[in-house]
Amino acid sequence: MKSILIVEDEPSIRGFVVINMKRAGYDVIEAESGEEALELLTKKPGIRLALLDLMLPGMDGFELCRQIRAAKHDIGIIMLTARTQEVDKVTGLMTGADDYITKPFSPTELIARVDALFRRIGGGERETSSDMRRGPFVLNNRNRTITKNEKLIRVTQVEYSIMKLFMGNPGKAMSREEILSSVWGRNYAGDLKIVDVNIRRLRMKIEDDATKPKYIGTVWGYGYKWDD
Ligand code: CA
Repeated sequence: MKSILIVEDEPSIRGFVVINMKRAGYDVIEAESGEEALELLTKKPGIRLALLDLMLPGMDGFELCRQIRAAKHDIGIIMLTARTQEVDKVTGLMTGADDYITKPFSPTELIARVDALFRRIGGGERETSSDMRRGPFVLNNRNRTITKNEKLIRVTQVEYSIMKLFMGNPGKAMSREEILSSVWGRNYAGDLKIVDVNIRRLRMKIEDDATKPKYIGTVWGYGYKWDD
């Protein structure tokens, strides 16, 4: 079942999102606040995705996102933001969100972005290929985890997909467009900055020193390259 949690305090927007997600075939769970959302996530372990409004009474969307990750809920997260909150977008991604959608959005855009994230996080299907090993890293395709020197690294599903792309293409200079279309999908409507933000975050997790990356190198004016 494709389960999605919608966290939005405004009834009209929540209603709009709920109707469209149901139409797209999702099993929808609703929450009006971050506190309620955290409770539901614990009660219903089948939830795969969450749409979080940024401006919520009490705990805001950033804090909720941070707490979801801190509680180790392994789900895809999309933030709903207002168009003027350009700076907040990047901050939102840094707290562990996988994508963001700016308000107002059309049903088509909403469904496309949610479907894309659902596919990216594996869509509930189990991959059968074996582990991928490069340098100190092992990618486990069955449970989508990464270890470095046998120690588990906490990554989001998007970061996992980026690692898989890099480790499957060692030594190859990859353009940001190539990474975007491979990880986020060909029809992704967002901007290239999302690649840089995710790679910055990934470096902090996998590199010994994120300021002097050893594994994910920068190819100036082009993109990134994996070396191990
Ligand atoms: Ca709101």
